[in-house]
Amino acid sequence: MAQSKILLYYKFQPIADPKAIMLWQRDLCESLGLRGRILISEHGINGTVGGDMAACKRYVRKTKEYFSGIEFKWSEGGAEDFPKLSVKVRNEIVAFGAPGELKVDAEGVIGGGVHLSPAEVNELVAERGDEVVFFDGRNAMEAQIGRFKGAVVPDVRTTHDFIPELDSGKYDHLKDKPVITYCTGGIRCEILSALMINRGFTEVYQVDGGIVRYGEKFGNHGLWEGSLYVFDRRMHVEFGDDAAQLGHCIHCNAPTNTFVNCDNGECREQVLMCESCAGTPELVHCGNDACQS
Ligand SMILES: [Zn+2]
Ligand SMILES: [Zn+2]
Repeated sequence: MAQSKILLYYKFQPIADPKAIMLWQRDLCESLGLRGRILISEHGINGTVGGDMAACKRYVRKTKEYFSGIEFKWSEGGAEDFPKLSVKVRNEIVAFGAPGELKVDAEGVIGGGVHLSPAEVNELVAERGDEVVFFDGRNAMEAQIGRFKGAVVPDVRTTHDFIPELDSGKYDHLKDKPVITYCTGGIRCEILSALMINRGFTEVYQVDGGIVRYGEKFGNHGLWEGSLYVFDRRMHVEFGDDAAQLGHCIHCNAPTNTFVNCDNGECREQVLMCESCAGTPELVHCGNDACQS
């Protein structure tokens, strides 16, 4: 059996004709038998595709011809992890609801936070101690099973909620502190860190390569704690067997890092549930009154 892989990648750079790039990428993926999801905007590309190893290698080579310097993260999986191929043009490659505010040039996002390698993250914390604030750049739900130690977790359901959350004044006391933003692979913080700087945060950093790269480097022996939520059928990954379990079942409080969809078709909220509660049909709901009945 041919070996297969999943590629994760993004690149911020100005694209004069996103539609032409979309058509080229769709043809390329179809000809290589890749499946997955690719978003293209006038600010760049954001994708996850899976397929045979040889096809992935060829995709990487071709895509680098236009997106020079783009970095690919390779992970286990294949085309079968995706229902189909979807290549689309959007206003934004990450939906912050701020397409007009984001500015990019050939080097990437303009005015974003300083990139820190995983080792530099630890150095900053060693030097500045408790002054340093980790700021979670993901949906709050993702942080329930894993986050940087002591992190601030904003109250957001989707990335669209970040701007009202920042504008609420709740985090104004952090504006003169060293703030390290982090997210799964780094893309959300490219934008979030720029939005924060635009709103008066004076010392903003971002973890280069995100939690994925930090976890690869330090496993469970650095400043990261717990599991990493991922948006594919694996649901979460751990950096070794000794990962702390931070999540708790919403019904019985037992430790768990498994999310279950609320049974109410109109809700579908993902909530943490232990194996025993998830196996009890009348408990497969998110806890809201409407969903319980
Ligand atoms: Zn339970
Ligand atoms: Zn529900």
